[in-house]
Amino acid sequence: MHKVHNFSAGPAILPQQAIDAGVEALKNFADTGLSILEVSHRSKEFVAVMEEARATVKKLWNLSDDYEVLYLQGGASTQFLTVAYNLLNTRASYVDTGTWSSKALKEAKRLGQVEVIASSKDRNYCYIPKGFEIPEDSDYLHITSNNTIFGSQYHAFPDTNVSMVCDMSSDIFSRDIDATKFDLIYAGAQKNLGPAGATLVVIKKEILGKVSREIPSMLDYNVHLSKDSMFNTPPAFPVYVVLQTLKWIDQQGIESIEKRNLEKAELLYKEIDNNELFKGTVDKEDRSFMNATFLLNDESLTDDFMNACKEANISGIKGHRSVGGFRASMYNALDLDSVKALVNVMQTFK
Ligand SMILES: *Cc1c(COP(=O)(O)O)cnc(C)c1O
Repeated sequence: MHKVHNFSAGPAILPQQAIDAGVEALKNFADTGLSILEVSHRSKEFVAVMEEARATVKKLWNLSDDYEVLYLQGGASTQFLTVAYNLLNTRASYVDTGTWSSKALKEAKRLGQVEVIASSKDRNYCYIPKGFEIPEDSDYLHITSNNTIFGSQYHAFPDTNVSMVCDMSSDIFSRDIDATKFDLIYAGAQKNLGPAGATLVVIKKEILGKVSREIPSMLDYNVHLSKDSMFNTPPAFPVYVVLQTLKWIDQQGIESIEKRNLEKAELLYKEIDNNELFKGTVDKEDRSFMNATFLLNDESLTDDFMNACKEANISGIKGHRSVGGFRASMYNALDLDSVKALVNVMQTFK
């Protein structure tokens, strides 16, 4: 059981069984008598971990062999550039829904023409743009499924023939989606999957090999694919813990995880809406089920509310500086009881 209610945005809460398995592997990995920190990534024990970690992603999303899975380093932020290196020929379309999308398109601009086809910047990113035109000749469309900082989330994805790329760092495996709508999905592990240091990339293989530029080896998806995600030393321990989280997801089923996530989000948003001390920052229909952002109407109460949270063992709810107020991140591993504890503090505070 977690003793602290951990609402941190990332690195963030993980399933206890994933942490326990990680601790065990630090001491004695797969009965080798060695720590996972001490063994070769070419050992048969670690190769088996990498293979299972790749295969489990395909299993969870029912992906055919048209798709491949990589675990890379450099975080989601390196993918901002890697995506463009591998896919941007003449022109790419981006939807700007917050800090991370802006950073993604900034990197892509280094390599070609980037068009921001829709943006919610006009209202400090408090909504998800809809009904925008997607130029048919785009090499790809890039979206950020969940905006970790501003607390908005796509509840329906664009419908298009253009190849879609998605940064799913903060809502991956939080709900039942049709992953085949996307040709490339990436996610830094540290929000909903595991420790910082591993980045999951899922690619439909046929989209690769269409650009003429020379790609540095470490940024070339084909190089990593040809080496089964072991072109260089992979982040072995993070991948091990990601695998444990994926197994935990698989045991419960994504549908049941989604149901629980919905229940948690509904409980918190109901309190935000009903408690006159607070207000949400995002348009209701676009609210994130992962990161709920909210404000106190009277900002002078901030320190008192933070203290009340602290006394109730609630951690990590201070908002990001670009939004202010509070942010409660409710990733997969967070129990409903933790949300109840937060709601309880909000009610008592009132
Ligand atoms: C945290 C986050 C990132 C940045 O991830 P790094 O692994 O730190 O580079 C990118 N996109 C989204 C949506 C995020 O939440």
